Amino acid sequence: MSERGSEIVDLPRDVPAPSAASWAERPAAGPEARARRRFGEGAQIVCDNLVKIYKVADLEVVALQGLDLLVNAGEMIAIVGASGSGKSTLLNILGGLDAPSAGRAVVAGHDLTQMGRRERTRYRRQTIGFVWQQTAKNLLPYLSAVENVEMPMILNGSTDRERALELLRTVGLESRADHRPDRLSGGEQQRVAIAVALANQPEVLLADEPTGELDTATSAEIFDLMRHVNASLGTTVIVVTHDPLVSEQVQRTVAIRDGRTSSETLRRGRVSEEGEHEIFAEEFAVLDRAGRLQLPRAHVEALGLEGRVRVHLEDDHIEIWPDVHVEADR
Ligand code: ADP
Ligand code: MG
Repeated sequence: MSERGSEIVDLPRDVPAPSAASWAERPAAGPEARARRRFGEGAQIVCDNLVKIYKVADLEVVALQGLDLLVNAGEMIAIVGASGSGKSTLLNILGGLDAPSAGRAVVAGHDLTQMGRRERTRYRRQTIGFVWQQTAKNLLPYLSAVENVEMPMILNGSTDRERALELLRTVGLESRADHRPDRLSGGEQQRVAIAVALANQPEVLLADEPTGELDTATSAEIFDLMRHVNASLGTTVIVVTHDPLVSEQVQRTVAIRDGRTSSETLRRGRVSEEGEHEIFAEEFAVLDRAGRLQLPRAHVEALGLEGRVRVHLEDDHIEIWPDVHVEADR
């Protein structure tokens, strides 16, 4: 993988990102069909008005407050946001490690709000793969790399040494198969962790700041590897990251602010006439189904917007002004 370096050579395949608009425009047969149609139909991952409240003693912490998110099968998205914005909470819910307080979360047909214990265990073993930031949390220290990759297979009822080696080959570590984690570098441990996460051919790979403890160059390699997994195996990848550069390498970056999705950045690649690879990025505000919008903080501050704003509909756009009150002549 390292020969790929950190240069951006292949944007993830052009899997269209779902949008609430295309959902709303989908033709319905009649009022009945419209009533039956649900938000996110057709998406592999649906978060619908997700709420998570942690109770600590007498205190309630609202970690997610009505978060909506749709992800299509085969997409790779990055999730960014300040510390404490709810990224890990979201990933833990999607990973079946934590249950939402309200709202709906569906992953690959599994309704996470309705799941019993047995289905949850099966879901965690078969449907998703999880990679944590802490390299130590991902691997068993007394097992070799290949044994670590085999472990989820054994828990799932069958093991396959050949397949485990094949996965180590995929992550570029076949030669380290017999090494225990303490003989691997941080980057190598995260590669093994990705192979472990892929052991049971999950539909979705969830990674919570997998490069948080790695240097920039190693981070880029790990990110490259996840893009490779996404492109070659078709695994949906959701990766939480702090690294602004890393988030430039995916087709869609979702920003979370205060437990809600606040904006999405879509990136498209193209090759210029000189043969140079060019990337275009555009940031969009996200409109929720009630019509609420989080304006970019910089825009709000630039105009000193506060409280009420004037909203004016034009033919093809909407204008927003501060509420400057002009005293009428008396
Ligand atoms: P991020 O991953 O974006 O840094 P988290 O999802 O970890 O954010 O946290 C979101 C909010 O929920 C924070 O205010 C955090 O303190 C709180 N929180 C997270 N986990 C717990 C928990 N187990 N108990 C209480 N509060 C929590
Ligand atoms: Mg976190």
